[in-house]
Amino acid sequence: MYSLSKKSKVVVKKEMTWSEKLYLPAIFQGLMITIRHFFKKKATLQYPEQKKEFAAVYRGKHILKRDEQGRENCTACGLCAVSCPAEAITIVAAERQKGEEHLYREEKYAASYEINMLRCIFCGLCEEACPKDAVYLTEELAPASFDRTDFIFGKDKLVQPLGTSAHPKTYKPYKK
Ligand code: SF4
Ligand code: SF4
Repeated sequence: MYSLSKKSKVVVKKEMTWSEKLYLPAIFQGLMITIRHFFKKKATLQYPEQKKEFAAVYRGKHILKRDEQGRENCTACGLCAVSCPAEAITIVAAERQKGEEHLYREEKYAASYEINMLRCIFCGLCEEACPKDAVYLTEELAPASFDRTDFIFGKDKLVQPLGTSAHPKTYKPYKK
């Protein structure tokens, strides 16, 4: 057949030699590759028993922090939502009522605080913008799910659990 590029090659199917027909050299070569990898440092981890160390600057799931007395730090100022380039944060503010001083540190608090984790790009700008030391990106991974609604993280998933210290290991803040 005429070739426009003049680079075509006629491929000839070579007859296999006697040793190739035995397949033993090929099997032996394959085994040698396996044995070589057997003694090499493994590239994989036995997750979840073994966990990979993250870089110091790793930014994972958010946490809304409490103060030393267990009160929520967030004052629903909205600066995190304004600074979010992905428009992932939605806040509904409410006024603290008498007798709620032990729950919320400031006179205004977030009645609802939601982060759409499908939009979030984990840039950390919300953390940078927060004047109340309230929102942090932790080392925790945001859990996977097949349901999109599971990725709307409300206060139930974001607020630091009561009784945990301000900086427990799992909630290690990105910002030191
Ligand atoms: S980490 Fe970035 S993208 Fe995610 S909620 Fe905060 S500001 Fe928005
Ligand atoms: S997390 Fe911080 S920036 Fe965001 S609303 Fe609360 S106090 Fe304001």
